[in-house]
Amino acid sequence: MNPQPAAFTNEDFAARTRRVADSAVEKGLAGVIVTPGPDLVWLTGYRPTAITERLTMLVLSPDNEPTLLVPILERPDAEAAEGAGSLSLVDWADGTDPYETASPLLRSDGAFGISDSAWAIHLLGLQQALPQSSYRSLTDCLPMMRAVKDDNELMRLTAAGSAADATYGEIVKRRFAGRLETEVAADLADLLREFGHEQVDFTVVGSGPNGANPHHEAGDRVIEPGDAVVLDFGGLRYGYGSDTTRTVCVGEPTAEIREVHEVVRQAQQASVDAVQPGVSCQDIDRAARKVITEAGYGEQFIHRTGHGIGLTTHEPPYMVEGEEQPLVPGMCFSVEPGIYLAGRFGVRIEDIVTVTADGGRRLNNTDHGLGFVE
Ligand code: ZN
Ligand code: ZN
Ligand code: ZN
Repeated sequence: MNPQPAAFTNEDFAARTRRVADSAVEKGLAGVIVTPGPDLVWLTGYRPTAITERLTMLVLSPDNEPTLLVPILERPDAEAAEGAGSLSLVDWADGTDPYETASPLLRSDGAFGISDSAWAIHLLGLQQALPQSSYRSLTDCLPMMRAVKDDNELMRLTAAGSAADATYGEIVKRRFAGRLETEVAADLADLLREFGHEQVDFTVVGSGPNGANPHHEAGDRVIEPGDAVVLDFGGLRYGYGSDTTRTVCVGEPTAEIREVHEVVRQAQQASVDAVQPGVSCQDIDRAARKVITEAGYGEQFIHRTGHGIGLTTHEPPYMVEGEEQPLVPGMCFSVEPGIYLAGRFGVRIEDIVTVTADGGRRLNNTDHGLGFVE
């Protein structure tokens, strides 16, 4: 369905580490420390099989070339990582002090951004080894580090989006009435894999009153004729995320379901239409909220309008009131307004959208109308 994306090259990783080291300097930092997780994958391609008490960290600073510190027993795995060619590797052995090995890589009185998910024992070890150093949350100092996607990443996100669309195209042909939510959810998971996902992260099937709970996954409720059903599903393809939502009706919808769905559809369209480089994230949220509020459902739209997506399903930028970050071409995020009528039904419509030079382009393109199933 889509051509397969090329592997990331050492130049890709080198460009990323350089960019992050430069922005650290702009923020007045001596460098950044990245521990295992999505940021490390993005910067080096390295995903240690087990994340343990043994210190693994990447140091990016203007003073040194990018350096990955690893336990010696994990050195062969680190050397095999996609981006290892653009790194220098330093190892440490059990029985020695890894923080002493780390110290020369850091400026003793410097301020460093450090991964939010770094283990406390590692941060405490660094603080003890370098008492004059200081640390800040990496998300606080460089929230947009992974937000702008390059062409290769966009290709992966596009491929993930098409596979999610193909999944929706198939699920609406399946039977809903009389089946459990969990059965439809299992179908969604099978289809996502069939269409090329290597990992399924969530398959929300919220039928009738369950659809009014945005965090409901899928349960043992039997889907009934007349139900509105929220379908929100996604996972990873080529390492990058999909996340799309459509709302379908089993048989004949009531006038109210049609009306609420149409409000959400217009709200979603208004936010997508608002996407332009330079427009702030909160303006994307406001565009959908205005439509829903004017229709009288403002109180029933109980979450932000969207979240960034990439190596993880939820990451900056967030489309939320108070986020003044301007949109930049290459950013990818969800636009997913919803209306939730407690105890009765819910409607949500979600696409991943990427910012282009002159607007927004959807990576999900299935019909936005109320879907009909049997
Ligand atoms: Zn979703
Ligand atoms: Zn989402
Ligand atoms: Zn979500």
